[in-house]
Amino acid sequence: MTKGASASALARSVRHGDLSALECVTQALEALATPASGAAVTDRLEDSARQQATQLDTCRERGETLGPLAGVPFAVKENICTLDGRSACGSRSLAGHRSPFEATAVDRLRRAGAIMVAKTCCDEFGMGSSGEHCAWGPTTNPWDPERVPGGSSSGSAIVVARGAVPLALGSDTGGSARQPAAFCGLVGVKPNYGRVSRWGLVAFASSLDTIAPMTRTVSDAALALRVMAGHDPHDESSSSRPVPDFESSLGKGVSGLRVGLIREFRGHDSLHPAIAVAVDRAARDLEAAGAELREISLPVASYGLPIYYLLSSAEASSNLSRYDGVRYGVRSQGGDDLLGMYEKTRGESLGPEVKRRIMLGTYALSAGYYDEYYGRALRARAVLRSQVERQHRELDLLLCPTTPQPAFRLGEKTREPLEMYEGDLFTVLASLTGQPALTIPAPERVGGLPLGVQLIARPFDEMTLFRAARTLEQAGFRSGSLEPESGQNS
Ligand code: GLN
Repeated sequence: MTKGASASALARSVRHGDLSALECVTQALEALATPASGAAVTDRLEDSARQQATQLDTCRERGETLGPLAGVPFAVKENICTLDGRSACGSRSLAGHRSPFEATAVDRLRRAGAIMVAKTCCDEFGMGSSGEHCAWGPTTNPWDPERVPGGSSSGSAIVVARGAVPLALGSDTGGSARQPAAFCGLVGVKPNYGRVSRWGLVAFASSLDTIAPMTRTVSDAALALRVMAGHDPHDESSSSRPVPDFESSLGKGVSGLRVGLIREFRGHDSLHPAIAVAVDRAARDLEAAGAELREISLPVASYGLPIYYLLSSAEASSNLSRYDGVRYGVRSQGGDDLLGMYEKTRGESLGPEVKRRIMLGTYALSAGYYDEYYGRALRARAVLRSQVERQHRELDLLLCPTTPQPAFRLGEKTREPLEMYEGDLFTVLASLTGQPALTIPAPERVGGLPLGVQLIARPFDEMTLFRAARTLEQAGFRSGSLEPESGQNS
């Protein structure tokens, strides 16, 4: 039985010949076909996955060396371009879109032996925090069917939480992998900006976008990130820094590491008491393992939300101008002239949240307001960066909640967009500074719902992030297991 097994365990079994890649992939495909996981899947890649698995089994029989992810089934958010399956970004404007090229991150996972079995649903173009802004309809939280799975990488979170696959790719621009990971009880990593190539990730906000692994264990996240990371000539913003072997140092512990607790986040009005308890427990566990704890103040962090929503919307308004029915996207019939055709096409094919961002971003960039909004947000981002940088002269890690609240009810925040945005308060910090961040599920739950605790490390220091996360995992911070098809647990 492969359901619920970790990626590293599956790959080991496949390499040793205890399990065939075909068996592994077949079980994943079956799990993805159940109604519970199926809603999260926008394209199930039965044929290509079986074919690749058979090829891999033949290579093993021939005695060839297999990669570190041999036979591991994985799923990919549909705003990441892949040759197999559709890449529709949760948008009617790209309905049925098939990419003529493949994202570098996906290509590297496949070269390491992993086998893509599904594309997963998401909030349109990655804009949202609940999965409800997907053109193909909302999905539900595996732990409570009345609640959202989080977003925008909702489908990827669901299939990993359900144990159908051990690894899925999400994207994280302002929290879209970390927040659904927290809502569904998973490990989610936003790598440092530039650590993983963005080639093939459909642009939302180019200065913030990252491709992010979502897994049930810390070592699977470390393994996936090591495979995907590193410079890519297709993306000049990808870093050429060497990629450490994250897994080999996982067990080094946290002795001597200095960890800062962000006072403004820990004491925030909107923070659920159970999440505050979870963060305190993480702090105590790290301390017990030899870390040194300090409370720090980061006043500018409270401005993260307006800075993030102005900058990301400004960038989105520019990036999304290409979906005009001519260069890209489905074209609407009618419209009297060129402008009329553009209006009709964009009016009909883009959802309300995407339109809201485009309007907000266009306004922030327009003549007369540019400096007051976009320019000011850029300057505030620089201040935020330098304040965090100053803290990191003395601190190896920052510790804070991932989200203020656990998964909310479906429909609870769709009428009031600002309330939806407020949930991103703690995740946008690392997005704006570019540094790596990780969420890990706490042992505490509220009403059966998982809670996430977030760690943020110095620029490009994912290694320390993984070491601390492993320490917490050993102290009981880990994904729970869902009974198949139950929809409820604990
Ligand atoms: N929820 C945030 C937003 O709607 C983050 C999105 C993301 O990271 N892609 O913008």
